[in-house]
Amino acid sequence: MEYNCSDIVLAQKEFFKTRRTQNSTYRRNSLKKLLKEIKKRENDICDALYADFKKPKFEAVLTETSIVIAELKLTIKKMRSWARPKRVLPALLNFPSKDRIHSEPYGTTLIISPWNYPYQLALAPLIGAVAAGNTVVLKPSELTPNTSKILAEIISEVFEENHVKVVQGGVAISQELLAERWDYIFFTGSVPVGKIIAKAAAPNLTPVTLELGGKNPCIVDLHSDFKLTAKRIVWGKFLNAGQTCIAPDYLIVQAQAKFDFIKALIEEIEAAYGENPQESPDYPRIVNEKNFNRLEALLAGENVLHGGIVDKDDLYMAPTVLDEPAFDSEVMKDEIFGPILPIQVYSTLEDISDIIAKYEKPLALYVFSNDKKFANRMIERHSFGGGAINDTVTHFVNHRLPFGGVGHSGMGAYHGRRSFDVFSHKKSITNKATWLDIPMRYAPYRGKLKVLKSFLKYF
Ligand code: NAD
Repeated sequence: MEYNCSDIVLAQKEFFKTRRTQNSTYRRNSLKKLLKEIKKRENDICDALYADFKKPKFEAVLTETSIVIAELKLTIKKMRSWARPKRVLPALLNFPSKDRIHSEPYGTTLIISPWNYPYQLALAPLIGAVAAGNTVVLKPSELTPNTSKILAEIISEVFEENHVKVVQGGVAISQELLAERWDYIFFTGSVPVGKIIAKAAAPNLTPVTLELGGKNPCIVDLHSDFKLTAKRIVWGKFLNAGQTCIAPDYLIVQAQAKFDFIKALIEEIEAAYGENPQESPDYPRIVNEKNFNRLEALLAGENVLHGGIVDKDDLYMAPTVLDEPAFDSEVMKDEIFGPILPIQVYSTLEDISDIIAKYEKPLALYVFSNDKKFANRMIERHSFGGGAINDTVTHFVNHRLPFGGVGHSGMGAYHGRRSFDVFSHKKSITNKATWLDIPMRYAPYRGKLKVLKSFLKYF
């Protein structure tokens, strides 16, 4: 499909100027229409996700459609109160005044989304952008064309074209869009592309949210319930065949627990996907050949404890566990983003910190332990986007928890009310009364400093 990006942006800027997107009834009705449409198309969406990389319907509903529906319902219910100016206590120095914060839409926004949760990661930020009163151009991933097509159909059915539009395509179209002047850019994807986005935003000082990835550690303490721990790690790691930004990337297991824990891990993999996961209806495929080749290369020369079976024609890679790969090996260098789980071991707390410090700040960290003190220590000692104690991935679904990275795993956070806030400029207003005007602050200042200092003592 051919697009003229400049014309698209110009048309959206004109539409924004009409102030229709700022009308709360208009934006709320648009979101209500979206909710109706996505409920109607839920089966088509699940079929598209299956066609793209055999995402099981259960996972499609659990991790894609239900999340979008929940975000939409919450936003429709709350957006009027989120949009209302908020009264705050005034500063005594300004007496008498009334202070408030207005939420103002940025204007014309660009959302670029990835392929791994191609439906949810496109629509969740879009809901916030529309609720806050912006126009949106959404560029979904080219690697999941069936889902991107459905997204384009839903959006064109629900929104006026100059309000919200889907632009389909790959890197070239993404870069054409980035060359335009936006009022906000929201990007979800890899760290290297995140840097390209930040560079593209810099000349116009366009604010950005970057939802990126990283190498997420998962710590397993001797004092944990191995069976339950293994079950929860297997679920979080092999969900979506390991192609999840917040999946545990590698394990750090207490040395004494290693043997028993590996046994539990293998039992849970078999319990979830059977002896031959390729035959399991619940196990997805790698998204494309390029990613398959990258993942297959990571296995070379490694000590495979379980799995390791691949079928290129089917883009299949079995859930795979690796025994203590070297830290300078390919598999331990970057985010794995596939169904390979390396196990490292620790003896002291310093070992854990040393391992984690080898990498940039991760998007997630998980710790499994019945020792509350130990678990809390791990959470406090390390810097990461977000995470869980005695579970994996599930912090994502609570809309009250801001979701985002830190350092190389991203900047900014969204979900629930924060999705509205991320797409709103917060305009602070002091409304000064005129019935009283304290002369203190005005020049000439002679003789006033002493009075000011004694006054400031009370602050
Ligand atoms: P990606 O960075 O390759 O692509 C993301 C988007 O950017 C796509 O729409 C793509 O077309 C576009 N793009 C790719 N190269 C570009 C370039 N050179 N210039 C401009 N645009 C470009 O990421 P991906 O492979 O789709 O997704 C996997 C990555 O995303 C992983 O690193 C994962 O951790 C991360 N991720 C993060 C989150 C999060 O919420 N933090 C969620 C999902 C995925």
